[in-house]
Amino acid sequence: MSDTLSTFEFFQKFPNEKAARTFFETRRWGDTPVCGHCGSIYVSECKDHKPMAYRCKSCRKHFSVRTGTVLSESRLPLQKWLLAIYMLTSARKGIPSIQMARELGVTQKTAWFLAQRIRETWLNDQGNNDMGDHTQVDETYIGGKEANKHASKKLHAGRGTVGKTAVVGIRDQHNQVRAMPAKNTGGALLRSFVAKNAPEGATVVTDMHKG
Ligand SMILES: [Zn+2]
Repeated sequence: MSDTLSTFEFFQKFPNEKAARTFFETRRWGDTPVCGHCGSIYVSECKDHKPMAYRCKSCRKHFSVRTGTVLSESRLPLQKWLLAIYMLTSARKGIPSIQMARELGVTQKTAWFLAQRIRETWLNDQGNNDMGDHTQVDETYIGGKEANKHASKKLHAGRGTVGKTAVVGIRDQHNQVRAMPAKNTGGALLRSFVAKNAPEGATVVTDMHKG
């Protein structure tokens, strides 16, 4: 998703659950659904998508685009998953889980769960040097406001980024995004992160941050 996509544009692009589902299906399968249990492409679409969108003719099990992915860990609408991904990729300076919860209409616990799963997925995708050769690297901070935490978890150590998780992200010209939580956003860490994801010789654009 592009840097400039506004929340308004998000809802124009993904106005309902069907649009979100189509997005995930196309990203995962292209035109042909693949059984999440056995990998077969001999599948049929179920009427009204019940109990699930597809049924495999090879292993006879039902499946959906969620099957075998992190999306199957909750029953939350795919549109909310997508909105959560959009919020996490577009918030430059991180997004408190309480704000995410409010905008998604879910509990703070659910928002936290979503953010966690989405970040883990980005983490697992890395290391193939398979991103485009024009990349942009940035760091951001994700985490709750200190004021919202239980007293025993407060850090009392200052302001700003304290108590938040640093996340470094890389985006290429195709708007492919990878990100990982980081202990710091120093130069060495950023260089190894870029080296893992961007091909050799890639153009890397960053902000004015020293790292
Ligand atoms: Zn199957």
